Amino acid sequence: MILTGGISITDKEIEYVTDAVRKGWDEHHSDYKVKFEKEFAKYVGSKYAYAVTGGTQALWLSLAALNIGPGDEVIIPELTYFACSDVVKPLGATPVFVDILRDTWCIDPVSLNKAITPDTRVIMPVYAYGNAPEMEEIMALADKYDLYVVEDACPAVGTFYKDKHAGTFGDFGCFSFHGAKIMTTGFGGMVVTDNKELYDRVVFLDDHGEDKSRPDRFWQKEVGYTFYMHNINAAMGLAQLERIEEFVSKKRQIHQWYKDRLIKWTLNTEQPASRTNMWFTSILVPNRARAMARLKSRGIDTRPFFYPISMFPMYENQDNPVAYDICLKGINLPSGVQRTEGDIDLICEVINES
Ligand SMILES: *Cc1c(COP(=O)(O)O)cnc(C)c1O
Repeated sequence: MILTGGISITDKEIEYVTDAVRKGWDEHHSDYKVKFEKEFAKYVGSKYAYAVTGGTQALWLSLAALNIGPGDEVIIPELTYFACSDVVKPLGATPVFVDILRDTWCIDPVSLNKAITPDTRVIMPVYAYGNAPEMEEIMALADKYDLYVVEDACPAVGTFYKDKHAGTFGDFGCFSFHGAKIMTTGFGGMVVTDNKELYDRVVFLDDHGEDKSRPDRFWQKEVGYTFYMHNINAAMGLAQLERIEEFVSKKRQIHQWYKDRLIKWTLNTEQPASRTNMWFTSILVPNRARAMARLKSRGIDTRPFFYPISMFPMYENQDNPVAYDICLKGINLPSGVQRTEGDIDLICEVINES
């Protein structure tokens, strides 16, 4: 079976992780975590980075640090992983779902603008499959209405919108290192920000909200979390980060192979003057179930796009026609870094037969 994802592990990852297991204790318990955070911040161009156990936890901590709660609305595009709405609900806030653009599959600024109410506190743009949202327009709206921006850049390590890295426009940027993503720590994630106060608040909340200013220990000031990443995972993260440009190049090569062969189909597009990491090359097909079954019968695994979140029983269906169309037509094609041109040849042959 040709799988949709796939990662690359070399001696570097094994060496760093082994070192963390052997020596990463006592006074060295956070060496790799600290180094990974520092190098990640440097790579994306943020002042601060804080490593956590997942992209979901990164989003959750960001909203918690901004004191989002009952009565607050968080605007989310329909096409995203349910992690986005899952972190809004437990905080007591309300997710509001808006439409996406037909070309980038990211949040539609017009639909976003219409959804802003006096209760809106946060815009959560999503880098759908690595594609960049219209960050300039989104930031302009955030400025105009004085809203926070928490970027779900979970699948977008290596994506640049114009000359800025994904996740560095808003108050917080969130990333995922799940095994399906472009770089991995097994499970893992990162929160980045340029705001020292917000960073300090993330660190404080994620240490159970313990008051560290007191001379004694274990006095809790606020209900908190423990989402922080372990040093062993961070060792793997550091090794993968040192290879991120290699992964992006390979993903973009794979995308080019697809593009050259799937000329009559709609694939994901790149924003002008930007660089998409091409985490997944994706395609829109008229009959998704049939296309996926036919590919599967030839040993090729694919992934359907996420459903529009407002379709789920916990929410009310929304009139977001582009998302309701594209979400039901899209599939992610095998895009793991180990894929060869021969694999792509075979996949495209099957697609083009229909
Ligand atoms: C992967 C992903 C997440 C969640 O990341 P986890 O590390 O699995 O928690 C959230 N949002 C988007 C858009 C993603 O692609």
